[in-house]
Amino acid sequence: MTRTTNGWAAYGPGSPLEPFTYLRPDPGANEVEIQVTHCGACTSDLHLIEGDWGEASQYPQVCGHEVVGRVVRTGSAVTHLSPDQRVGVGWYKGACLACEWCLKGEEQHCAAVLPTCSNGQKGGFADFLTCDSRFVFLLPDNLPSHVAAPLFCAGQTVFTALLRGTRPGMRVGVLGIGGLGHLAIQFAAKFGCTVTALSSSDNKKAQALQLGARHFYTLDLATLQAQENTLDFLLITASNDQDWERAIALLRPHGTLCFAGMPGPVTLDIPAMTYKTLTVSTANVGGRHDMLKMLEFASEHHVWPMVEIFPTEQINQALDALRNNTVRYRAVIEF
Ligand SMILES: [Zn+2]
Ligand SMILES: [Zn+2]
Repeated sequence: MTRTTNGWAAYGPGSPLEPFTYLRPDPGANEVEIQVTHCGACTSDLHLIEGDWGEASQYPQVCGHEVVGRVVRTGSAVTHLSPDQRVGVGWYKGACLACEWCLKGEEQHCAAVLPTCSNGQKGGFADFLTCDSRFVFLLPDNLPSHVAAPLFCAGQTVFTALLRGTRPGMRVGVLGIGGLGHLAIQFAAKFGCTVTALSSSDNKKAQALQLGARHFYTLDLATLQAQENTLDFLLITASNDQDWERAIALLRPHGTLCFAGMPGPVTLDIPAMTYKTLTVSTANVGGRHDMLKMLEFASEHHVWPMVEIFPTEQINQALDALRNNTVRYRAVIEF
């Protein structure tokens, strides 16, 4: 029996979200139907709403890729999930599971990977989501649903970058203390790194130190000059342009500048980087294995997103708060 889903869609580039009802087929053999209880709002959702990524947006565009809810129905081949369990879904909700990248546990690089809410897919800003059960993850018991939601994109993105690029004892900088940054500070500190938080003002200083940062600096010239050659790994979680020359100067020889935020095209001083043999890297979300490791680590080491909850009818206020950078630190819609 085909049912309907009530979602919130942008009907055109940049337009406010409005109710949108669409068909919801029965789950296929490997699929589960989830009743969404919470969904985080991410900067990527704003890009999709605005149409910044070309054909990735298809209107009516239903965003939402930090989806948490309860299993309602399962397909005939699903054995690891059952109704009423609390689960989550991140940026991807399917892949071929047979190619080189899928077999490596890097489903995010599969040519057939299925994004949760872009390229015509309808995401978690809705009362139901049906998708491949193999991209649906059980929530650890000690993680409340509203807290867990931001782990599924923001959490996985910074966890994967730090897991690949750092070792215990490293001096790790986190530039930008928002949805990504406040989780990066916690993960890096719990990994055993010495964390330096960097922010445009000292408004978030007390919070950053409480989350595990050892040092906190503002991004003014004199402060940055005093901190030259102090970091092994600098994670950029801000999405706006920065003084990249100064950012490079913060790094020690063999250091890494890693982009987890998306500031747009960036010009880097390659001779200055060569002088210290620096590396530039980027952070995508990880694969399913990374997701499992991240959830286990967050649960065990109490890496909890700090969230502001918005009821469904205030979904546009949540997006405006995200646009205006006033959320501390992740907006979560409660359905
Ligand atoms: Zn995201
Ligand atoms: Zn594949």
